[in-house]
Formats: sequence, structure tokens, C-alpha cells
Amino acid sequence: MDYTEAFTSAVARVRAEGRYRVFANLRRYKGQFPRARWRTPDGDVRDVTVWCSNDYLGMGQSACVTESMKQAIDDVGAGAGGTRNISGTTHYHVELERSLADLHDKEAALLFTSGYIANEATLATLGKILPGLIIFSDALNHASMIEGVRGARCEKHVWRHNDVAHLEELLKAAPAGAPKLIAFESVYSMDGDVGPIEAVCDLAEKYGALTYLDEVHAVGLYGLRGGGIAERDGLLDRIDIIEGTLGKAFGVMGGYIAADAVIVDAVRSWAPGFIFTTSLAPSLAAGARASVEYLKSAHELREKHQERAATLKARVREAGLPLMESETHIVPIRVGDPVMCKRLSDALLDDHGLYVQPINYPTVPRGTERLRFTPTPLHDDTMMDELVEALEEVWTRFKAVRAA
Ligand SMILES: *Cc1c(COP(=O)(O)O)cnc(C)c1O
Repeated sequence: MDYTEAFTSAVARVRAEGRYRVFANLRRYKGQFPRARWRTPDGDVRDVTVWCSNDYLGMGQSACVTESMKQAIDDVGAGAGGTRNISGTTHYHVELERSLADLHDKEAALLFTSGYIANEATLATLGKILPGLIIFSDALNHASMIEGVRGARCEKHVWRHNDVAHLEELLKAAPAGAPKLIAFESVYSMDGDVGPIEAVCDLAEKYGALTYLDEVHAVGLYGLRGGGIAERDGLLDRIDIIEGTLGKAFGVMGGYIAADAVIVDAVRSWAPGFIFTTSLAPSLAAGARASVEYLKSAHELREKHQERAATLKARVREAGLPLMESETHIVPIRVGDPVMCKRLSDALLDDHGLYVQPINYPTVPRGTERLRFTPTPLHDDTMMDELVEALEEVWTRFKAVRAA
């Protein structure tokens, strides 16, 4: 086999579809979020405003987080030096797990090196722990959940996105005595819509299923203490396993699940993706804990975040740009074509100093390519003026579609 040719043509296929990815080389300015320095492909350096960060509240630059990380490095050094089992469990990990269990009002929590691994490892492991398990997975679940379900090597059914009637049909058709798990998300990150959590919990109760909820885009942002949508809606006790990330609103890195102690203990004992990998650096655990604890009482910051998102949505709608309906802090604008999507994004960056990454297949279905904006409490009115003006300019220049 001509290996080089195989790799070259794999890349060429992506290019031919107009969805070849180019990463923007950025360097943030601490203290000036969401400003950053962009190194262009030609080696120039230019200031830009970042509009697509998942550091939704700018916590990655907050002094309470960075100071605790520096302190942890001064106290114990850089890496954890082992897996959790072999010298990699530190005071920082234990404290963070306690903090997270408390956040979700659960008995226990378990850390993973990312939210992706938390989903992949936990779901795959549930398939081993529960013989004959049937998983019911929402059609728009994140790639990490899809990989986890695949790894569970059990029967699975995909229910139409947010369609509880379809979910019930599938549950009803399954053997009554079989163990079942319903896996879904609270905030869907590309459309900004919210899963029907209460209705899913009702069905889970009726059909004897466990519930598994990915709150990655909600933790830190919703609920009285930042516990997510389940907390906001008073449903924490009805979700068996909550999964979250420390890398988005918490601004650091890592992932976790929170659940009954016996569930956490079983996953801890069986999941290769937890067992056989070096644990998070203590400084990451320290920074994440500072962030989680800080956000437990940061009501005003959460309100400001919602206000900023609502304001941007209103501005985009007024400008007659094709805003996609979103119930949350995520502001997607439809483009509907991967080549156009990249062209608009390039022009915003090159000509306006505004960075928003094009979102193309396979992140979203073909034909729904979009620009996805994530305004934070630190995106002020002037930045929004600049953005909307620039969007109108590029939409007109490239004759992009205006209908939503
Ligand atoms: C980003 C994301 C993850 C993965 O979290 P990381 O900590 O970034 O690995 C999981 N689920 C959803 C829905 C996500 O968007």
C-alpha cells in the first residue's frame, strides 16, 4: 500500500468538501479577556477579539483561579506523577471531588482528565457493570457520549433529538426487566437548546431506567450555585449520573461525574479510562476547585452572562441576520454551507479582527453550518457594536443567506 497517498487523499477529501480545518494561533492577554494576539499564517501579529471561547465567564483568567494554581505549583510541583492508584491521588484531587459532589448534591464525584474521557469511560464501563444493558441515546449527543455508548458494546437505541414521545416508544418496546440507561444533555452546545429533563426523568421512573445527563455546557452557568440546568429546575435528585467539565465555564481542564457513592465506586474500580492514566496535575485540580467554589456564589456574574447573550441575540435579530433560535447563552447564526462559513469567518478575522471559528460537519449536520458566538460578561456594548457592524458588512459582501 502507498501509505503517503492514503493520508494525502484522506486530507484531500476533507479539503474538497470545504471543511479542512485551520487552527488560529492565539495568545491571550491575561486581564484583557476576550482580547488576544493572533499570529497570522504569514507571521504577522495582530490584536483580535475572541467570540467563540467556551471559557464562558472568563474564569480562566480570574485571579482566584490563577493564584491557586501558582500556589499549588509552588507547594507540590508540576505533575501528579502517577495514576490515581499509584501515588497520583493528592489532597487537591480529593478536595475537588468533594466540592463537585456538593455542587450537584450527590454523595460522590470522580475526576477524569477531560469531559470527553468522563463520558467515554463512564458509559463504556456501565455496559460492563450492567449485563444486558440497553442504552437510549439522544440523536444529538456529543461525540464523547457516542464513543462511550459504542464502547459499552450493548444494545442501543437512538431517540430523535429531544423527542420524548419517540423515547417512550423505544422504552416501551424494550423488555420490561432489562436494565436501561437514558443518556442525554442539558444544554446542546451547537443549537443552544435544552433537553426535556423532567419528562425524561418521568419516563425513566416509569420504565425503570437510569438517567445520565451531560451538563458540560451548563455547569457554572445555571442553577443557584452553578450546578447546571438540573439544579435550576430542581431535578438533581432525579438524575442518577451527572457529567461535567472543568474546561469550559470553570476555565481550567478536566472532567467528572457525580452520582451515588456506590455508582462512583463501581466506575472508579472498573473504568480503564480512569484507572490507567496519570491523574490531573495538582495545579489543575487546585484551580478548578477555586473556580467551582467561587462560582457557587457568583449569581451576578451568571446574570450578566445571560444579559449579554440576550443582548447579542436581540442585536443580531434586529440586523436581520439569520439567528438560530437558542434558549441559552449560545448564539448561533446560520450559514448553511461549509465554504461560505469559512469565507465569512476568514473575512471577520482578516478584515475586522474578530475571531469566530466556522462550525462545519461533522460537528453539526451538513446544511446547518454556522457561526457560533459565545458572548461572555466581558464582551461589552462596544464590542457588540463592532461585531454586528462587521457581520452586516461580510454578509452583504459575500451575499450570504439572510433567512434563518
Ligand atoms: C466539550 C464537550 C465535552 C468534552 O468536554 P472536555 O472537557 O472538553 O473534554 C463533553 N460533552 C459535551 C456536550 C461537550 O461539548
